[in-house]
Amino acid sequence: MANRALEGAQVIDFTHDQLPGRVVFGAGRRRDAPAELDALGASRVLVIGGSHESSTVDELVAGIGFPADTIIGVRPHVPADTVRDALAVLDRSGADVVVAVGGGSATGLGKMLALQRDVGLLAIPTTYAGSEMTPIWGTTEDGVKRTGRSVRVLPATVIYDPELTLGLPPSVTVNSAFNALAHCLEALWLPDTSPITVGASVEAITSIVSAVSDVSRRPDDVEARARLLYGAHRAGSVLASAGTGLLHRTAHVLGGMYGLDHGAIYAVLTPPMVDHHLAALPQVRARLTDALGPDPQGVLVELARRLGAPRSLAAIGFPADELAAAADAVAQHAAVPATTVEPLLTAVLTT
Ligand code: NAD
Repeated sequence: MANRALEGAQVIDFTHDQLPGRVVFGAGRRRDAPAELDALGASRVLVIGGSHESSTVDELVAGIGFPADTIIGVRPHVPADTVRDALAVLDRSGADVVVAVGGGSATGLGKMLALQRDVGLLAIPTTYAGSEMTPIWGTTEDGVKRTGRSVRVLPATVIYDPELTLGLPPSVTVNSAFNALAHCLEALWLPDTSPITVGASVEAITSIVSAVSDVSRRPDDVEARARLLYGAHRAGSVLASAGTGLLHRTAHVLGGMYGLDHGAIYAVLTPPMVDHHLAALPQVRARLTDALGPDPQGVLVELARRLGAPRSLAAIGFPADELAAAADAVAQHAAVPATTVEPLLTAVLTT
């Protein structure tokens, strides 16, 4: 398939940051964690995980072979008080490596620790959010999500073990897969995307759509789970190089202000955002067609329907009377007019 980022270009001319990091991928590879921690020179670790990941954390701590402290029960959207509490535990423990086991919330807390202390980070992701591949950090205080970029927060090592995703509930699987798709879709319309990123995005979209469909039919299929996790890994790398635009910034504002589920926001927002960007930029249509066929928005709507994903903001708890306030906040955060944002939110307010 042609790489549309190169089409019509007289001279290939782009900037692309290649980020460092070691990736270990495969069923059962969580058992490589002790060796990977050794390679990082760890002498004492702090393992953090969500409440659903406690058995994985226990298994890990039992096999590590050197001192470990744990924090179980990370919270969505990385609240600032959770970060302060975790920093206090880290300071008391004297750990030199933090291990984050779980979804984007666990990885996000690990990143905030790495941002503020001189510690290494090893991530073991158990959802498809992709945060482990990016230098983007985020934390929420008083309903406002602040984000930033720093290579300090990039995990030195990421271990992907699809067996850890077998217990993911169907709704988390689907919403999180839409989060991964959003990383790739946005990379197709951001202005400074490199051809490397566009090629990777198209490939990842195709594989995520196919894998999430297989996983929803056969949740216990490790091979399908591995393909979806691999797509999520690629999507995370795409987000790292492409950065965020209107789609992600809208999700950050809605998540921070109203505490909505991060993945669910993407399930709702991707179809109207695709429609909006299709109309705006002609080369985006060609790229989206490569990834999803001639009716990309229709494919996403149908995918959401087939997978049972939420289809409206009302269905995920967004208060309808907040539409204007939300549109204003998004407009400010994304540096676009509120008149651009309001119709996008209105289109998916209710089904
Ligand atoms: P999450 O980490 O909150 O996980 C969602 C739910 O799934 C939680 O209840 C969690 O406990 C549960 N869960 C996770 N793994 C499980 C497993 N194996 N089995 C059963 N349940 C499991 O949410 P998420 O969607 O993974 O991540 C969203 C967060 O990540 C948001 O805060 C978002 O901003 C952030 N994020 C950041 C980046 C970045 O580059 N910085 C990228 C993507 C997402």
